[in-house]
Amino acid sequence: MPIDIKSQSREELQARFQSWEQPVYRVTQLLEWLYVRRATSWDAMTNLPKTLRAQLAEAFSLQSLELVRKQGSRDITQKFLWKLADGALIESVLIPANPALYGEASDRHTLCVSTQVGCAYGCKFCASGLDGWKRNLTPHEIVEQVLATERWNETETKAARPSAGGAPAAAPETEAAESRLINNLVIMGMGEPLSNYDNLLPALRLLNAPWGGGIGARKITISTSGLVPQIRRLADEPEQFRLAISLHGATDEVRQRIMPVNRKYPLKELTAALEYYQEKKDRMITFEYILIAGVNDALEQTQPLGALARHLRAKVNLIPYNKVEGLTWQRPSEEVCEGFLAALEKQRIPATLRREKGGDIDAACGQLRLKTERELAPPLGTMAPA
Ligand code: SAH
Ligand code: SF4
Repeated sequence: MPIDIKSQSREELQARFQSWEQPVYRVTQLLEWLYVRRATSWDAMTNLPKTLRAQLAEAFSLQSLELVRKQGSRDITQKFLWKLADGALIESVLIPANPALYGEASDRHTLCVSTQVGCAYGCKFCASGLDGWKRNLTPHEIVEQVLATERWNETETKAARPSAGGAPAAAPETEAAESRLINNLVIMGMGEPLSNYDNLLPALRLLNAPWGGGIGARKITISTSGLVPQIRRLADEPEQFRLAISLHGATDEVRQRIMPVNRKYPLKELTAALEYYQEKKDRMITFEYILIAGVNDALEQTQPLGALARHLRAKVNLIPYNKVEGLTWQRPSEEVCEGFLAALEKQRIPATLRREKGGDIDAACGQLRLKTERELAPPLGTMAPA
């Protein structure tokens, strides 16, 4: 399979076009087809000469994600299940910034994207790791989650609009730019983004580029379970991406119980890497802390958590656990969650408690995929003999 065109940087495309003796402006035209108009076929690129289109088709693939399932309705959190070229399933979650006006294209949203099929890190509470790790996503599969979601939105918006009459139709390129939906990214879907570093960074650069996704680096948050060497590597990159750490435990004892990664990178090493990150970036770090009943929700845990947050000037994001089918972990009561928040606030730690919206549509990462794969799997005993 040839490399996908949406895995290529502008520089790579320029070099290729130069070797084909194509003028530079052709690259600009191509990029507009890919990232502004979100074309899904070479034939659609009508202002490129046919011979060039044929050359491109021979050198690159042009894949788009196929929507297989969607949960949630317009104006609330929506979850997309995509099928990749090899049949693997991944998820993205679209979160509105504020109550959207029906059919209003100017409303901006956050997209939560996946970086791997499955996850190798096996956190005990998480649906993404339940069936293990299958493969890394390529840069274009990461980028396509944004484009495919925007394509879907464009179709929906058009369908919702009253039929033409009155104002003349906008030129296609204005329309595509207007319908740009996503201005915020959280890399918190399926997979451990920093273990797919070499595909993640090119993808984020394509999404960040003004000629690409146009999403500001400060509006891109990478969430990690705490891969120490890659946190240091990220600190040395020029971009100002935001960093979120899935902490979920403020002592090695608690963290180890639910996150095997803590054996490899215990809190002392993680803390040192985060100190380095802050030194280089001077940016606020976020701690994600899922509240799981009887595991990490005791009030005394707010002491080490508060101390760590103060030391690293981190903000704490408390998330009541989202039940995963087949796992026995439970979300604490509302009072326990509110009490935990209050104890952090008493220490003057900036903290928020997510009062879940997506819980009812399996919004936590990996859950829709797991459910769909299990539904699609042939019942035991019906598999054809090998
Ligand atoms: N692997 C990365 C990013 C993906 S997970 C990481 O671990 O940070 C994104 C976030 O969802 C993490 O904070 C993860 O701990 C959290 N999460 C996983 N399962 C969850 C569940 N059932 N309920 C609530 N949050 C969950
Ligand atoms: Fe992987 Fe993150 Fe889930 Fe842990 S929480 S299993 S690192 S996706």
